[in-house]
Amino acid sequence: MARMIVTISKMWAGILFVVCVSVLNAAVPDFDEAHAFFLLEAQCALGPRNPGSWGHDRCLEFLKRELGYWTDTVFVQPFSYYSFDRKETLELSNIIGRIAPEKNARILLCAHWDTRPTADQDPEPKNHNTPILGANDGASGVAILLEIARRCALKPPGIGLDFVFFDGEDYGREGVLDDYVIGSKHFANDIPAPVPRFGILLDMVGDRDLKIPKEQASYTLARDVVEKVWRAARDLGIQTFDPTVGRGVYDDHLALNEEGIPTIDLIDFDYPPWHTLHDIPSACSAKSLDDVGRVLLQVIYTEKP
Ligand code: ZN
Repeated sequence: MARMIVTISKMWAGILFVVCVSVLNAAVPDFDEAHAFFLLEAQCALGPRNPGSWGHDRCLEFLKRELGYWTDTVFVQPFSYYSFDRKETLELSNIIGRIAPEKNARILLCAHWDTRPTADQDPEPKNHNTPILGANDGASGVAILLEIARRCALKPPGIGLDFVFFDGEDYGREGVLDDYVIGSKHFANDIPAPVPRFGILLDMVGDRDLKIPKEQASYTLARDVVEKVWRAARDLGIQTFDPTVGRGVYDDHLALNEEGIPTIDLIDFDYPPWHTLHDIPSACSAKSLDDVGRVLLQVIYTEKP
C-alpha cells in the first residue's frame, strides 16, 4: 500500500512537472525562422552596407523603420570617425531600439549592421578591394534580433530590452585594430540608463553549418552569462551550442565588458566564406537563425524581473 501511495504520488508529481514545463514553455513565444531569413535577405538586397555606400544609407533607414515597428523608442547615435590608416572620415550611426525603457531589469542584445568594405580573404586577388555582401557577417545577427523584437512586441516579456545595432565593426584593414569595433567603443561612452544587467552579442550566427563554441573572452569576462545561455540551449535540446571553449575574438562585446556590462559574443568563426564575395544568403540557413533565436527567447522569458 505504502508503495502504491509512493507510486501514485510520483505519478502526480510527474503530471505536475509536465504541466509546469508546458506552462513555462507556453510563456516563451515561437521564433519565426522564415521571417528571420527574409530579414537577412532584405538587408542583402540593399547590396554591401559598408560605411559611405548607398546600401549603408538605405539600410540605416530600413533598420530605423523596422525597430520603430517593434520597440517603444528608437534613436540613432550619429558620429564621425577619422581613420588615420585610410585617411578618410566616416559618418557612422549606432541604431538603438528599447522595449520598456523605464524598467531597471533589462538585457542588451546587439549585433553589427555594417559590412566589410573589402573582400580581402577572397580566393581571387582581383576581388580584394570589392565590398562584401555580409549575409552572415552582418545581416545574420541583425535579422535574429529584429525577429526577436517583433516577438517581444507581440508578447511583452517581464524585463526591458535594449536592441543595439553597431556601425563600423568591420571597417579595419587586417592588423589595424583601431579601425575595428568603432560603433561599440562609441556606444560604451554613452550607454542610455537604466544600464542593462548583461549583454549578448551576435556575430556570424547564420552559417549553414553552425556550431557556436564558448568564445574565450566571454568565458573569462562574463562566465555567468555564458552558462545561462548554454543552459537555455541544453533545456531546449539545441545542439548548435558547443560546450567547448573556443578562440577569443576581437569584437563588439569587449567595449561593453570594459564598461562593466558583462557581455558575451555568440560567434562561429569557422566559416570558409568569411570576408569573401561568397558570404551570401545561400551560405546561411533559416534553421541556424532559428536555433539562436529560440535560445535567446528562452533566456529573455525566463529572466527574473
Ligand atoms: Zn567580419
